Amino acid sequence: MDTSQIIHKTAGDLRVRPNLADYEAECHRFSWDAVSHELTGLPPGIVNIAWHAVDRHANRGEGERIAFRFLAAGMPCRDVTYTELCAQTNRFCNVLRALGIGKGERLFILAGRIPELYVGLLGALKNGTVVSPLFSAFGPEPIATRINLGAGTVLLTTDALYARKVAKWRDRMPSLKHVLLVAEDGGQTSEPGTLDLVSLLRNAPDACDLTPTTAEDMALLHFTSGTTGTPKGAVHVHGAVATHWATGKYALDLHASDIYWCTADPGWVTGTSYGTIAPLLHGVTSIVDREEFDAERWYRVLRDEGVSVWYTAPTAIRMLMKAGPEVARRYALPRLRFIASVGEPLNPEAVWWSKEVLGLPIHDNWWQTETGGIMIANTPAFDIKPGSMGRPLPGVEAAIVQRGEDGSVSIINAPDKQGELALKQGWPSMFRGYLNNEERYRKSFSGEWYLTGDLARRDADGYYWFVGRADDVIKSAGHLIGPFEVESALMEHPAVAEAGVIGKPDPVVGEMVKAFVSLNPGFEPSDKLRLELLGHARTRLGAAVAPKEIAFLELLPRTRSGKIMRRLLKARELGLPEGDTSTLEGGT
Ligand code: AMP
Repeated sequence: MDTSQIIHKTAGDLRVRPNLADYEAECHRFSWDAVSHELTGLPPGIVNIAWHAVDRHANRGEGERIAFRFLAAGMPCRDVTYTELCAQTNRFCNVLRALGIGKGERLFILAGRIPELYVGLLGALKNGTVVSPLFSAFGPEPIATRINLGAGTVLLTTDALYARKVAKWRDRMPSLKHVLLVAEDGGQTSEPGTLDLVSLLRNAPDACDLTPTTAEDMALLHFTSGTTGTPKGAVHVHGAVATHWATGKYALDLHASDIYWCTADPGWVTGTSYGTIAPLLHGVTSIVDREEFDAERWYRVLRDEGVSVWYTAPTAIRMLMKAGPEVARRYALPRLRFIASVGEPLNPEAVWWSKEVLGLPIHDNWWQTETGGIMIANTPAFDIKPGSMGRPLPGVEAAIVQRGEDGSVSIINAPDKQGELALKQGWPSMFRGYLNNEERYRKSFSGEWYLTGDLARRDADGYYWFVGRADDVIKSAGHLIGPFEVESALMEHPAVAEAGVIGKPDPVVGEMVKAFVSLNPGFEPSDKLRLELLGHARTRLGAAVAPKEIAFLELLPRTRSGKIMRRLLKARELGLPEGDTSTLEGGT
């Protein structure tokens, strides 16, 4: 198959009139100011993500629409209308108030896709409380690190996750005042030192006054990983709602009649921006499936729920490809009209596979925790070049730049030249800081440009092509993993003297985490020790972050200033040229 061809869009491909039909004209016409006129209903100066997402519909006679349909294996589905969601989120807001939790305090959420996760997130936003979602696949260490960095005062989690990952570590999280538990079996919890959330919700009033929040008030705290140091808490504000709305409209083509399914983990920024906020803003019905990936189940959900817009991830698509086209062909999907993906490079083969097997191409798009919303996308308005991330959305100005020695940047105008992907400041969901790390935040900008840390190129037609990361972070199954966090956990084991962690290419998950360790005196490499270290890392970090492979080395390559040269480890692992090794300690 020649994957370099273009997928041409014709009017006949589209089952509804797309929101974005003329890309150039819309880019020209677009203004963020105009978007704010779409999101009205609150007094001047007041902006609240949850109110716009939920109450706006309930208040204008659209409350009987289904906001969420919750699915779980072996249980009947549970529908929640916009009116019900409005009442439940008010109740949660009142629960926080009764506990004395106010504006600006931090609620952390650690849960799978249970209804209370969505109720908690939106209810806290109504209270002006900042929400920080965590991956439920995290182990105790990443959880405690983030709660401490974010000075969390409340944690919403389930009884099982609490017992496995939090209870023993609770005294290491001194800021945590309250833990709200949901029983995974639907019953009541009675864990000492915690509160049963379902009972609290039942007894709380279902009306509340919104805490006044402005566009610049902090709403969300999303942790992301860098190459060095602790995870970075990207601060997002209520004004981001304008981006959520505009990108839901242009990049996901959401119409109020849609049945929408976002498969992202709710602990990832996509799970918040597009698994919760954007679909609600457009009044659509979201499918929320509690179960993990299973090819047959996913096709069944797409078919039985009549999903029309599906937002998923390249790893999931590759797992469906692996399951085989014959599985896909058993399920007719006549209602499905738009597929989009995000989070990692989408290989052209996957776009063609989808076109052939599912009858629709995948619209890849690009963004990151710091941008808060989709920035570059393949939209219904233009042809797809498989392998490309698409073009900047209306209201977004992107460029390929080169950083100078003095911190300035120059724009590379020539097509197909590689450089760093940069975005011009000014879109509403841009992060407003890394929590308690002003210097790191400032370093992400040069003049009016935000520097994304991604390498990319732009072709003569204005399409952007992902090249790689400018740093050492690892993307595994869509999760951004900081090597430093993994190395630190390994080094807590008495056998490990030093550790270097890299991403090793993997055909399904993109990259898998591989660690190289050298041992302390008195320890010898062995398969037994390898298994012990793998188990140690898994217990500490959780399965999503822990290395899948560990290799023993006598010494790790270091720069003269003492930094482990992960790039060299990677080059050696992959048999690639070693590049410039002049800073290597000891010469070679
Ligand atoms: P996160 O902040 O965890 O959402 O990760 C953001 C990073 O994921 C980006 O900086 C990219 O390195 C990568 N990424 C996101 N979307 C894409 C895409 N469509 N193609 C390639 N890489 C992507």
